[in-house]
Amino acid sequence: MTKSRPNIMERKEFRDLTSVEDARKLVEQIRVQPETIILPIDKAVGHIIADDIPSGVDVPAFNRSVKDGYAIRAKDTYQATEPKPEELRCIGSIPAGCTDKFFVDDGETIEISTGAPIPDGADAVVMVENTKQTGDSVFIYQPVHIGENIMRAGNDIMKGERILRKNTRIGSREIGVLASIGMNDVPVKRLLVGIISTGNELIKPGDELEAGRIYDANSYAIAAAIEECGGTARIYGIVPDDAALMEEALERAINECNIVLTSGSTSAGVGDIMYMIIEEKGETLTHGIAIKPGKPVVIGMIGNVPTIGLPGNPTSALSIFNEFVAPIIYNSLGVKPTFKTKITAVMGTGIRSGGREELFPVGVVRGKAYPADKTSGAITTLSDADGIIEIRAHTEYIEAGSEVEVTMFGNVKSPDLMFVGGQCPGTDLLEEITGLVFRTLKMGSSAGFTAISGGTTDIACVNMVDSEGNYNSSVIGKMNLEDVVLVKGYRREQGLIFSPDTHVYGLKDITGLQLINRNRGSGTRALLDRELGKLAENMGIPRSELIKSLKGYNSGSKTHRSVCDAVKSGKADVGFGLRAAAEEAGLEFIPVAEDEFDFVIRKDLLDIEEIQIFLSALRSEEFSKRLPTGMYSYEMTGRVISSF
Ligand code: AMP
Ligand code: MG
Repeated sequence: MTKSRPNIMERKEFRDLTSVEDARKLVEQIRVQPETIILPIDKAVGHIIADDIPSGVDVPAFNRSVKDGYAIRAKDTYQATEPKPEELRCIGSIPAGCTDKFFVDDGETIEISTGAPIPDGADAVVMVENTKQTGDSVFIYQPVHIGENIMRAGNDIMKGERILRKNTRIGSREIGVLASIGMNDVPVKRLLVGIISTGNELIKPGDELEAGRIYDANSYAIAAAIEECGGTARIYGIVPDDAALMEEALERAINECNIVLTSGSTSAGVGDIMYMIIEEKGETLTHGIAIKPGKPVVIGMIGNVPTIGLPGNPTSALSIFNEFVAPIIYNSLGVKPTFKTKITAVMGTGIRSGGREELFPVGVVRGKAYPADKTSGAITTLSDADGIIEIRAHTEYIEAGSEVEVTMFGNVKSPDLMFVGGQCPGTDLLEEITGLVFRTLKMGSSAGFTAISGGTTDIACVNMVDSEGNYNSSVIGKMNLEDVVLVKGYRREQGLIFSPDTHVYGLKDITGLQLINRNRGSGTRALLDRELGKLAENMGIPRSELIKSLKGYNSGSKTHRSVCDAVKSGKADVGFGLRAAAEEAGLEFIPVAEDEFDFVIRKDLLDIEEIQIFLSALRSEEFSKRLPTGMYSYEMTGRVISSF
């Protein structure tokens, strides 16, 4: 029986949000039955063992020597001493893998290699170090006891012994054990989880990005998360926002999989129809959980297949997966969650919350947690976040310095140093030379100063010029930043960037052209302003008048590269930025000024190892040599200034 579909034009309101606790209880109830499949040993890693595994063989399968030496009867050595060795007659030699039969009698010995089978008659092995062979005579200088240097058959693993338990996750150790009992066909559980990404805007990674499109991150991130839980992911690809096509894809996935996940189209937006399809084909258990991010989540059952509509935003999708899908996979596989590492961190800054339950993405740098929720929907939150903290309902504010528990995303290596501020290929080079992991939030110099004053970054990357042409120190002075030092960085050629067919010879020529400017708060924009001021003075007009005459002055591109992209695509005639960026983009460049790209560092961090490594990299010859064209170390590079 088909239920009637609600009118798509009616916007769904989230009036009755399910509480997190109720949603957790709900998913705790859900189990699916995985299949058992046989995988070859070299494909079994990461899977969950379906049955107890008994060993079909003894390991080792025969008594073998654990030393290079001589197989003997122990009693023939009891009288041996250093000054009065026992003399035995050597009757042969047994290398590893030898299948010939030998017998050792009283007064005899056979030379034997590590791993070789012990000959009949012998009950011990004397290490070669305690012997000396002359012709057929072997002198034994130390007594051995029965069984010495022999590993008995089945000593490692006995035939019939259970070597691995059902529900064990197969790692390298388990693979080693399976191989050593000669097992090639491994029974593992297969819990197939299908993933469908929806959205007209999505493009498959690898395809060319068209205007207005974004790459499908969720299919891959979620598939990886499924595999981390021990499930098997099946990617169904991208389905446009079209009811019939979604229905078709869902139908296929439900027929083939144990669990089906979709991403996108769960919100109340017009055209977001996923929840309606679940409602029509099965039963909706909840649509909307009182949690942020990811409130618009649908949990339903179509037949006996749990079908979960994850939000489209990648950070939300992963958080919701971790909270409400991973438990279903774990419970169904009968395993304990292992990838959800929880760590205790200290809030590096206070965070304000809406007073409702919230999953709040944070970056973790050396044990300190920083908010990583720039703007909801920013894809960078995924790469800038290391995990999430759970903010309880009615918590309005978490103070800086308070302890929080962070649930890490997978096995992420959290960064060593945090940078906020201007963007420069030079810092990427520093990251490479130091071998450290940098978290770099490229938000412009002003944001860098704000972050360092708020204590939310280790280092601010800044290139902010004042009206006198001084870089950075005057800003520190003006802001009264007392707990910081200024470390001078390097100089960079900045200038006009344009296509070869545009006629530009100097700054004065930009008046008739379409300009692409940098974002407000960026040091490069401030530098252009300063140069425009000088130009206006030469022209004998106020700067404001000059600026008014510039087309595109109010634009605000966020990076040097996006300035180049705008020029290359013809959206703008001219931009202002780094020579390095212009050259990389194959554009023309006329130098206008040199700026100073510096680092503001918190004083209390100066002695820590990571900062020391950073400073020596900055001062190194390697850095100076490898800087991109148009950037130079100079006599001030690495100099620490502490009074402003
Ligand atoms: P939706 O839930 O469909 O409204 O999507 C919310 C936001 O997430 C939109 O900005 C989408 O473009 C984005 N989004 C949806 N699906 C994906 C995906 N598979 N990968 C990356 N971003 C996505
Ligand atoms: Mg969508």
